[in-house]
Amino acid sequence: MGIKVLEDKCTGCGLCLKSCLYQAIDIKNKVAVINDSCILCGACVPACKFQAIQLTTKESIKDFPDYRGFMVFLETKDGRIKDSGLELLSKTRQLNKILNTNICGVCMGASQDQLHLPFKFGADKVFAFNSDGWEQGMDDTYSQALFQIIGEVKPEIFLAAATSFGRTLTPKLAAMLKTGLTADCTELEVDKDTRLLKQTRPTFGGNVLATIVCKNSRPQMATVRPHVFKKVELGAKPEQIEMVPLKKAGLVNRQKLLDVDHNLDQDINLADYEVIVAGGRGMGGSQNFSLLRELADLLKGTVAASRAAVDAGWIAYPHQVGQTGKTVNPKLYIACGISGAIQHLAGMQTSDIIIAINKDSSAPIFKVANYGIVGDILEIVPKLISRIKQGLSLVD
Ligand code: FAD
Repeated sequence: MGIKVLEDKCTGCGLCLKSCLYQAIDIKNKVAVINDSCILCGACVPACKFQAIQLTTKESIKDFPDYRGFMVFLETKDGRIKDSGLELLSKTRQLNKILNTNICGVCMGASQDQLHLPFKFGADKVFAFNSDGWEQGMDDTYSQALFQIIGEVKPEIFLAAATSFGRTLTPKLAAMLKTGLTADCTELEVDKDTRLLKQTRPTFGGNVLATIVCKNSRPQMATVRPHVFKKVELGAKPEQIEMVPLKKAGLVNRQKLLDVDHNLDQDINLADYEVIVAGGRGMGGSQNFSLLRELADLLKGTVAASRAAVDAGWIAYPHQVGQTGKTVNPKLYIACGISGAIQHLAGMQTSDIIIAINKDSSAPIFKVANYGIVGDILEIVPKLISRIKQGLSLVD
């Protein structure tokens, strides 16, 4: 909503001044001018005898012509570009059919051969910082490097994956850029006329989907959970790689990497597995997770958990699946003693095949399961393990 004065009708009579409780109108050159104190109460509209003041329902959207194009942060691990960034490039290519602009990726610490990869997924250009020492988790240096390149390239939309690092890095970067950030989006669209990025994310415990836009600052920034969008490979296209030197002047680094704990339990990447065996409160205790580990090992998979199991301290947080955990879409997801709360389903319901084991036949998890087994987990899982060891299939 907005308010405007029709200059050709305004006589500068000052009647509106008396109606305004907020001193939000000035008379300049015999025309009423609305100032920043206006709260859009509309009291001045009927006060004007000449119908020179109008409340407008459609807000005019500010354009930022200096800012054009998409920029995707391509997170790396051990020199390799992670799939989550390539998924974003694929989605960006789809959005670009509407905005018809350019797409660039930006990465730090990628090995030279990896720099060709983003072009297969839609990038027109890749900016690669050429210095060494891009240690994992050092968001101070990363945010300053991204601040530098965003200042030079001026993308209208900046996207990053909502990985642990993406979630740490992007709020800091948004604050440095003095712009908005929508975290953990599950859908992105663009408006052709206003060029606004419509950023949709679950809110109120996943019961409501909110669509958020960033009207007054650039770039528009969003993080998206890994696996929400599929990575789609294209054919070959021209490659433009620009090596970028990091400006060291003024660089502030308050962080120091002391050690990396490669404890697998903490460092798990659930997305790397095609089979996930997940346990919930119905497992009854941490000791029973060894059964799930045995089953997962036999199926060459890994173990995950519901939040209830994580909160109980039975398994570490990186294993949590769901709204406040990881989103996964493995070929097989076996949910053991998990009720199927909406927040859990949000992280796993796109799995190709879901098998649910629960003693309560009315548990909601059965609504999303392809196969359901009603019974006690501590009896059923050992039977499944024994079937696999005998070379039999999981279910008849
Ligand atoms: P329960 O709901 O207690 O279910 C246990 C199930 O085990 C029951 O269905 C029971 O019938 C079955 N059972 C019990 N004993 C046995 C047995 N011996 N054999 C077989 N079955 C048995 N949850 C998540 O998982 N991930 C999230 O990321 C997440 N984020 C959340 C975010 C918010 C903002 C909120 C409000 C909640 C979130 N939750 C999340 C919590 C979610 O609402 C549920 O509380 C949680 O998923 C329940 O976990 P559960 O299914 O293991 O436990």
